[in-house]
Amino acid sequence: MTELTYRKGPRPPKIAAKLARKKEPRQLAVINQSGCTGCEACIVFCPVDCIEVVPNVGIAQFQQVVEVDLERCIGCALCSKHCPWDTIPMLEFADGLKRAPELTLYSVCNQTTAADVQAASGAAPSENTPSA
Ligand code: SF4
Ligand code: SF4
Repeated sequence: MTELTYRKGPRPPKIAAKLARKKEPRQLAVINQSGCTGCEACIVFCPVDCIEVVPNVGIAQFQQVVEVDLERCIGCALCSKHCPWDTIPMLEFADGLKRAPELTLYSVCNQTTAADVQAASGAAPSENTPSA
């Protein structure tokens, strides 16, 4: 069984209420939020509405980023193909679950972020890591 390293708690009710996928996909889209401008182009193309806006991120140039709900992504790669900033890697399923925390700076899905990983390891936060 794949270890759910990306999950730190239940999804908020509004997100958890969305339809579940039917089977485990071969790959997952993971937003590399360091390169995301929050333009929402990916959201338009996602056929299962599993990309969530993360508002108020406190980055000087940007008001928001986005995040893939990894429990619902079906791995179709449409978001990755259409991201103008090429910041959505498609990762093999288990690798995606493992690597998502290091690529996630902010989460509204209650998924593990880079700050959580650093806190668990006792390392000092990096410049890219949000303080809250
Ligand atoms: S890979 Fe497909 S299902 Fe997954 S987030 Fe991208 S568009 Fe949505
Ligand atoms: S299309 Fe790319 S840059 Fe735009 S919100 Fe989606 S991940 Fe971010």
